[in-house]
Amino acid sequence: MANFVLKSRRILIQGKLTDAALVVQGGRFISIEQNAQRPFPGLDVLDVGERVVLPGLLDCHVHLNEPGRTDWEGFETGTRAAAAGGVTTLVDMPLNSIPATTTVEGQRRKAEAAKGRCHTDYAFWGGVVPGNAHELEHMAAEGVVGFKCFLCPSGVDEFPHVSKSDLEGAMPVLARLGVPLIVHAELEDEASPTPKASRAYAGYLESRPRRFEDDAIRMMIDLCRRTRCRVHIVHLSSADALEDIKKARAEALPFSAETCPHYLTFSAEEIPDGATAYKCAPPIREAENRERLWEGLKGGVISLLVSDHSPCAPALKKLEAGDFRAAWGGISSLQLGLSILWTGAKRRGVSLAQLSGWMAQAPALLTGLSRRKGEIAVGRDADFVVFDPDADFVVEPKALRHRHKVTPYEGQKLMGQVAQTFLRGDCIFDAKNPNLTREPRGKFLPRGGYP
Ligand SMILES: [Zn+2]
Repeated sequence: MANFVLKSRRILIQGKLTDAALVVQGGRFISIEQNAQRPFPGLDVLDVGERVVLPGLLDCHVHLNEPGRTDWEGFETGTRAAAAGGVTTLVDMPLNSIPATTTVEGQRRKAEAAKGRCHTDYAFWGGVVPGNAHELEHMAAEGVVGFKCFLCPSGVDEFPHVSKSDLEGAMPVLARLGVPLIVHAELEDEASPTPKASRAYAGYLESRPRRFEDDAIRMMIDLCRRTRCRVHIVHLSSADALEDIKKARAEALPFSAETCPHYLTFSAEEIPDGATAYKCAPPIREAENRERLWEGLKGGVISLLVSDHSPCAPALKKLEAGDFRAAWGGISSLQLGLSILWTGAKRRGVSLAQLSGWMAQAPALLTGLSRRKGEIAVGRDADFVVFDPDADFVVEPKALRHRHKVTPYEGQKLMGQVAQTFLRGDCIFDAKNPNLTREPRGKFLPRGGYP
């Protein structure tokens, strides 16, 4: 592990871009000196000049699908893509791998599959499913950062959704353990049309109305109030729910929400018929909804940004038939998140410091990893991204390190390019030599940090 000095005119420290020199030793930042002009004898200096240095991103919503569906993605390919996108820690979702991470045994199988194969640090979410209440405490003891549940079918049989009464059993347990419950919040009802085989995006959008999310979120606020379990809504799409979330937060309930690049970038009006690369659940909604999500971020109602990278084998996207009902729902963007969001942020007057708060600091707090991750500060891990905010590029599938290259961002022009990514002081990605084979150095992080 190298000891060196990192210098830049623009390092994000305590929310401000600062001219500084940081000494990295033993994989951590050990000192920060503003406007340092002095020499650092005996240490190599990495001077990145005007390039911005941001804390490494913590993407706490990623589906790597290993073991069991490794033909969809995998720890090796997924974390390599993450590193190229400036992500230094990711948290893998408990479903789409087989077995699902809903038992201690499933958790151990996943830990075994990930060991020695990750280019970023990594952690796991556990799952709450009907009948696994007796597993929760043991899984928390083995280090999951929290638990996920679905309020509607998840898309895979091995991860069934929970009822309100399942949650009334599980949430007091999670509250006692002090870990968050993260929720896929869509509550289906009879009044919505059954999805038909369809190439029209409008048909798909209609089948998952905003009401599904709004009803689910109201139910979760009520459960949060009664149990005091920390609740976090994943991939919020309906801007109509913002008012209720705002009230819950004003009431000081332990309640938060995240959204994703696709909800902040695309709009239902522009999705071409048959373009199933855009299919995800909840769905991408109208442009008016998208702008309100940005307002929700700016106003502090939404506090996190994550990729929800959820790829599948390309055949399952049914790209040729373009059938929205039959296609797998999930969007690939792990490698592109920072550039996608910077492109949208810049246009709306949002700063890099705000973006970094949503993509590094807030996710570290949610996952209990903030002692080591999420900020550039003395004592934290030397995880950082060297970023060129004014460079632009066009998304070309061949430059993606995801296992499969299907993404709705293909051909998009994005602002801001990751030049280098460092994990605990080691370079894990360099745009000048993107295909260099590197030894995977990622470590497993239990809630709270390293063992
Ligand atoms: Zn997801």
